Amino acid sequence: MQRKPYAVSMPSSREQRRAEMRAATKQPFTPSAAAMSTRPLTPNGHLHTEAFCLMWYACECGHRERIWNSRDGVTPFGFQCPSCKEPKLRHVNWNLDQYAPKHVPAPGQRVWIDLTRDRALEIARRTVNQVAKGNVPVGTDLNRIADAVYNEGRAPDLVVYGYVEAV
Ligand SMILES: [Zn+2]
Repeated sequence: MQRKPYAVSMPSSREQRRAEMRAATKQPFTPSAAAMSTRPLTPNGHLHTEAFCLMWYACECGHRERIWNSRDGVTPFGFQCPSCKEPKLRHVNWNLDQYAPKHVPAPGQRVWIDLTRDRALEIARRTVNQVAKGNVPVGTDLNRIADAVYNEGRAPDLVVYGYVEAV
């Protein structure tokens, strides 16, 4: 019987590269446990400098408030001001940041908490609606957008303490 080497399916190097790329893109990027454990901790023993800190936020319109970070997670530097609606409320007076792990917020004080997946989905839906002006394009994967917003539970959310959403 004659051998037919040409009949044997051998992936070309291009096909192989494509397969490798497909496999690589299926791996979501997550910092490895080793990378996380070698990250230097803050003097208070946390991953983030702003962990459990009371921080002043101010806007050029005059609005000023102190927000508490209830967790060892990131907080945004600036966002929308509740008084003038401009995206100009900024973390100011960093030298006045106060480490307060046992802080009990006053009713009405705003607090950073971990974003929930449900809230991420709500934000994704609202954002897409705003951008698309109510006409969400067919095939829009809201769950994928929500995953990006959620960032594996590391994204911050801001709630008013003393209301239903507060912890
Ligand atoms: Zn303002």
